[in-house]
Amino acid sequence: MESRFRCLPSVDSLLSEARIRQLGEVYPHDVVVDLIRKDLDRNRALIAGGGECPSSGEIVESICARLRELVSPGPRPVINATGVILHTNLGRAPLSKAAIEAMAKAGKGYCDLEFDLQTGQRGSRDVHVEALICQITGAEAALVVNNNASAVLLGLSALARRKEVIVSRGQSIEIGGGFRIPEVLRQSGAKLVEVGTTNCTYARDFEEAIGPRTAALLSVHSSNFRIVGFAADVALRELVELAGRYDLLVLDDLGSGCLLDTTAFGLGPEPRVQDSISQGASLAFFSGDKLLGGPQAGIIAGRKDLVDKLKKHPLARAVRIDKTRLAGLAATLLSYLRGEAVSEIPVWQMISAGLDRLEERAAEWAEALGESASVVEGESMVGGGSLPGSTLPTRLVAAGRPTGRPDQDFARRLAESLRRQDPPVIGRLSGNQLYLDPRSVLPEEDAVVLESLRQAVHHMLQTRKSLHIRTKEG
Ligand SMILES: *Cc1c(COP(=O)(O)O)cnc(C)c1O
Repeated sequence: MESRFRCLPSVDSLLSEARIRQLGEVYPHDVVVDLIRKDLDRNRALIAGGGECPSSGEIVESICARLRELVSPGPRPVINATGVILHTNLGRAPLSKAAIEAMAKAGKGYCDLEFDLQTGQRGSRDVHVEALICQITGAEAALVVNNNASAVLLGLSALARRKEVIVSRGQSIEIGGGFRIPEVLRQSGAKLVEVGTTNCTYARDFEEAIGPRTAALLSVHSSNFRIVGFAADVALRELVELAGRYDLLVLDDLGSGCLLDTTAFGLGPEPRVQDSISQGASLAFFSGDKLLGGPQAGIIAGRKDLVDKLKKHPLARAVRIDKTRLAGLAATLLSYLRGEAVSEIPVWQMISAGLDRLEERAAEWAEALGESASVVEGESMVGGGSLPGSTLPTRLVAAGRPTGRPDQDFARRLAESLRRQDPPVIGRLSGNQLYLDPRSVLPEEDAVVLESLRQAVHHMLQTRKSLHIRTKEG
């Protein structure tokens, strides 16, 4: 057994390799030794499992790669050319200039996060954006926490623990990333009572399920799917009317936290926070980084007595928000208050981008990619758990070769080459085409995008050439 590992170099001999010695000059000795040991351990396990012994060149390369990974931690900036504006895997909403500045300022020094400048006494982090949220949404009170998932969990824990919460079967849903309404309810200690059927639920279904232990009627926005055809759900107004008769709460999980009228942009209707409040929801819950266009946050707005209860709940401390995001959220909300959201907040700039300009930009991008690319009509999506099935017309760059040609794999290789650029450019692969949508890219990033596109094509040509030479030589 032992002898099979003898092919592996010793720690000392690896330390004397030129490339590793160079690393030793930049990074602490014990870090480099630790990486060497871990790599040797990994190789021993591979060999024990029947693997071949790597060359010392391969081991040196793998140690250098581990170190590179260690010292260039993510998340790395990428260019989102997928056409999905709120792409959860790519970090959802890009922030406004004002939000970025506010966050940098709050992070750089100290701030009056929990300090009352008038009295010189301890203050509350809840006060900073509460008035703004109330002014914009019409709510009596508001609270901001880590994200909407924790907002809903906090609300249910504080108001419905050991009691029953009634929800329509069509809304007992999974949002993605493991957020499932039935599981969140269980976690909060509330008992879920599902009523109606998957496609149809009526007010009488709710009414029949109301009992002595009922605390709340829950409405959940079906943010990432749509039921079409024969379907019925209970409008918020009806829930409010019913809850009023039985003295129950109406909790409204809106998901996206939209404050503007999406139909004005050619999109389908997305429920707005203001409407939820004016229609009488006891509390509305929504995200800060979806259609609101700010940093990750969960916002709870509604009745003051309930918000006060939530503020005092122990879980509120566990899901509180930090000073930088609070500052970014405040700056974002100010854009709404001033009526400047569409011109200042990137998500809305992208949604409202005109087709002419998108076409011009797509043409420039296509030119940078060369002969394989052309401009075609297509559709962008808002995404991020809002407006399912609703799209915006756009112009795409399509790159690839028609099927049957020798280089069928071109689109996939181009996508890979684009992901390797700095910054990486992420597109959408479909069939044997790669699509790039300028809508989800801010125009000021175009210079960087064009450079990445040119580099990617250049790099592909280089590797093709060297492959060609190698096959000739071989
Ligand atoms: C997105 C979403 C959530 C989760 O919000 P996060 O801010 O991602 O935690 C909860 N409910 C609904 C309806 C959603 O769309």
